Amino acid sequence: MKIYLDGKFVEQQDAQVSVFDHGLLYGDGVFEGIRVYHGRIFRLEQHLDRLWDSAKAIMLKIPLSKEELTRACCEACRLNNVRDGYIRLVVTRGVGNLGLNPFQCPKPTVFIIADTIELYPEKVYREGIELITAATQRVNAAAISPSIKSLNYLNNILAKIEAIHAGTIEAIMLNHAGYVAECTGDNIFIVRQGRVETPPVSDGALIGITRNVILELAVKLGLPVAETHLTRYDLMTADECFITGTAAEIVPVAKVDCRPIGDGQPGVITLKLMEAFRKLTRTEGVPVGL
Ligand code: PMP
Repeated sequence: MKIYLDGKFVEQQDAQVSVFDHGLLYGDGVFEGIRVYHGRIFRLEQHLDRLWDSAKAIMLKIPLSKEELTRACCEACRLNNVRDGYIRLVVTRGVGNLGLNPFQCPKPTVFIIADTIELYPEKVYREGIELITAATQRVNAAAISPSIKSLNYLNNILAKIEAIHAGTIEAIMLNHAGYVAECTGDNIFIVRQGRVETPPVSDGALIGITRNVILELAVKLGLPVAETHLTRYDLMTADECFITGTAAEIVPVAKVDCRPIGDGQPGVITLKLMEAFRKLTRTEGVPVGL
């Protein structure tokens, strides 16, 4: 596999980052996970915009233009023959000393991995996933904004550990006020009385690219949408529930904390949105040239 690292494509075994890189020492950096469908990079522009916003929020200057990074992502796909897969684009603070000071890291590290991904087993797309509510609270937006897609995922990992210990693979995270924020690596939606609802970003959700696509598709399908506070009770009593993410795509939720959602099967509107999403991925995106 060829990896883009700081301006060059190198073999995987040569794609090495220093132990003094602050991405590794402190989780100081930002990243994107991006899908490639049918030889086209899906929503690349939005991913790059979010990467730039995340970088700006932590005062990290990305040493390439969006056009240069677009070209590098396409090249990474071509060199690795990725027509359907996943791109991981990472910008770290770069090499510094053992202190925290980010301004003593003169050069950000940039790398791109183009590979395949299967996040969840096929079964959960047909039968739905079981979620638990994690005891680990979503980090307070006043401490670190969940809109920053940073390399520091410990908050999410602590909740993920709870999910796995509970015998499942994804957990719902509540914010400090007890409202639903999102899952450890996915946004969450419910459907009630035909309305598609998701927590507002201010409740601690990442501004998910897939979340945005779902909101667009729901409007196109003539479904009312709302960004609204959601409680665990709202999830438990919803007609339908699903989670979204670039890697996950759209996953129906069968149970929340052991309560079946609706009749415990993927809901009608969820299935419609999954189909509309699949159609969109066939028609959209930046061609990689494969
Ligand atoms: N929330 C979190 C915490 C995430 O890490 C992700 C991405 N894996 C999402 C939501 C979904 O965002 P997107 O649709 O942009 O992948």
